[in-house]
Amino acid sequence: MLSIRNLHASIDGTPILQGINLEINPGEVHAIMGPNGSGKSTLASVLAGREEYEVTEGEVIFKGKDLLELSPEDRAREGVFLAFQYPVEIPGVSSTNFLRTAVNQVREYRGQEPLDAVKFLSLMKEKMKLVEIDQKLLSRSLNEGFSGGEKKRNEIFQMAILEPTLSILDETDSGLDIDALKVVSNGVNQLKSKENATIVVTHYQRLLDYIVPDFVHVLYKGRIVKSGGKELALELEEKGYDWIKEEVAGTI
Ligand code: ADP
Ligand code: MG
Ligand code: MG
Repeated sequence: MLSIRNLHASIDGTPILQGINLEINPGEVHAIMGPNGSGKSTLASVLAGREEYEVTEGEVIFKGKDLLELSPEDRAREGVFLAFQYPVEIPGVSSTNFLRTAVNQVREYRGQEPLDAVKFLSLMKEKMKLVEIDQKLLSRSLNEGFSGGEKKRNEIFQMAILEPTLSILDETDSGLDIDALKVVSNGVNQLKSKENATIVVTHYQRLLDYIVPDFVHVLYKGRIVKSGGKELALELEEKGYDWIKEEVAGTI
């Protein structure tokens, strides 16, 4: 589904990603962990196509297409979904209206008929049950005055409606409270299928108690310096990151 090869990216001329290699297959959940400032959010942002990052080398192939050639909007339409780091507030636009527009853009791109109000409503109802979101939340302005937990719930709902092929969840360093953690992880686990994949970016192991990853990668100084199974996350929880820094000292 996704092949990242020798990806290098800079911001304002400063190299941040320095040769990322990663293969993701349908059905897999990959966790990206690593110390603060190692480039985790940069990687998520580069995949989503945020324009402040300049890709200087390497390639990203998503479902056979060169992802880096696509605009952020077209990446979203192709099925890439980035959630969490800085949820935007859109005063005057309800989640419902936002989502109906978004979902119909995706459908148009895929050559499908747009959903009319009735069909959209029934899709909403189905997904509301799945992610346990309240109708009231959906009629409020998008993210305006939402609590942290409500923002997360709303994003998971967006994810449920848009049915992305690749979801990238970037947990902020401030982290999620326990309720938000459960909302996020229940949603992700419910939406998991053989056809889609998830990248969970997290500094701490906590989230991975709820979302069990198939693979864990440690990002350090813009490179993946170690990969393993879910036990690697537990090892990091116990021992921190210093032993990894020592292991790679002198090699990068
Ligand atoms: P992580 O998510 O692993 O904590 P980031 O990807 O946020 O790391 O940051 C990696 C490095 O890039 C850090 O040194 C950070 O200061 C720098 N960086 C990230 N975004 C910006 C930005 N918009 N402007 C300048 N430097 C940035
Ligand atoms: Mg950070
Ligand atoms: Mg980050």
